[in-house]
Amino acid sequence: MTEIVNFDSISFNDLGLAPELLKALTDSGYTTPTPIQAQAIPVALAGGDLMAGAQTGTGKTAAFALPLLQKLLPFANNGASPAKHPVRALILTPTRELAIQVEESVRAYAKHTPLRSLVVYGGVDIRTQTPHLKTGIEVLVATPGRLLDHIEQKTVQLNQVQMLVLDEADRMLDMGFMPDLKRILALLPKQRQNLMFSATFSNDIKKLADDFLTKPQLIEVARSNATNDNVTQKVYSVAQSDKEALLIQLLKAADAKQVIIFTKTKITASRLSRSLEREGIAADAIHGDKTQQERIKALDAFKACTVTALVATDVAARGLDISELPMVINYEIPSAPEDYVHRIGRTGRAGASGIAISFVSPEEEKYMVEIEKLIKREITKEIVVIEKPIARARTSSTASKTSQHKSTSSASNQDASATKRTPFKKKSTDPWFDKPYEAVVAAQQQVTVRSSSTRKAPVAALLGGLVLNK
Ligand code: AMP
Repeated sequence: MTEIVNFDSISFNDLGLAPELLKALTDSGYTTPTPIQAQAIPVALAGGDLMAGAQTGTGKTAAFALPLLQKLLPFANNGASPAKHPVRALILTPTRELAIQVEESVRAYAKHTPLRSLVVYGGVDIRTQTPHLKTGIEVLVATPGRLLDHIEQKTVQLNQVQMLVLDEADRMLDMGFMPDLKRILALLPKQRQNLMFSATFSNDIKKLADDFLTKPQLIEVARSNATNDNVTQKVYSVAQSDKEALLIQLLKAADAKQVIIFTKTKITASRLSRSLEREGIAADAIHGDKTQQERIKALDAFKACTVTALVATDVAARGLDISELPMVINYEIPSAPEDYVHRIGRTGRAGASGIAISFVSPEEEKYMVEIEKLIKREITKEIVVIEKPIARARTSSTASKTSQHKSTSSASNQDASATKRTPFKKKSTDPWFDKPYEAVVAAQQQVTVRSSSTRKAPVAALLGGLVLNK
């Protein structure tokens, strides 16, 4: 007979966690386990391998860190000798930001135990990490490349690892870590417990699970490839040629401070970022042709809010830790539906609300069908009519003049600081631009939306009245 468990009514006490860990959870202000914690913790405590589908912000870190610490408790000691603290648990993450975040959580949950943890990642002098490794630590959080460096320099021993966690396994594969993972896994003791977490379950992820896990228990919280409920998803049907005008209108109406805009190609990303800049919207692009240095610079500016709109291709965005955004726009719809989940997973983290808007041209409708199948949800399509397409209405011969002027007018209308970011030297010769500024309402009404009831709404309504983080 199948037992029906109501995970909603489970408490941390029911999960059989040790008092030291329960105390740390109380300190962290957690009262009840999240669904992934309620399901994964008992499985991991029972000692089996686990393959868990959990998106960002679901509490997945505690879902693996708590059972991991509990399993190491019998080995916890206050001994001074490093030999008393061999690496017993290894947590691999794709990015240094995630590694840092995970280790901070591990440390918080282990605070009432003598278990020690450390994080190692690339981009910093390896010699600064070695002394810490030498003191002995039970839980090592690492990015794959830097761990291999330590292995080569013999500054870390992994022969006592009894637990392995692969966090954000799908991103690790996307970032090309498979060869590194294989090398690391070959060095670990065969007898160990493996916990794998992934936001999406592609065929590659299933293959990875087949290769590295032993009879894993599959846990899907809600659904794999599900999208976060905190994210309002909107789909606007719009002609490809009107997308740029719509985007500019939306960004200005929302007065958005941090938006990531996804395109399919590097060329579109670059071109769009330049168009936005010309409109007085501080923008930058990240894609495969940009150096790592340029990408980091763009990301830092974005995080500091000096860049409002970051236009990115999927591949470029995956290598960067960008999350907790109020708004994501799919300027072009990805042909791989999993990419949609990745993209919108960057907003609505940890209970915060977010909005994900997809611009769907008639040619892209087929991709949307696949996405809806994957997320097992239908998103109402709203028809957007651009009555007076803005930049597009004027020909390319006047394009530069248009953009120069529009930046100025939009700035007076929405964001005065934008003009400062885009100094214009030439004066317009087109009389249209010298007309007095027309009120914002008129500008906003250029874009209307028709839902199935053919209701029209001004552009601000497209955002569903959502208050964006400023
Ligand atoms: P994660 O998905 O592990 O990145 O966690 C997302 C956020 O949720 C983090 O800020 C955690 O501190 C928080 N969190 C994790 N588990 C719980 C819980 N049971 N109750 C409240 N907050 C939690």
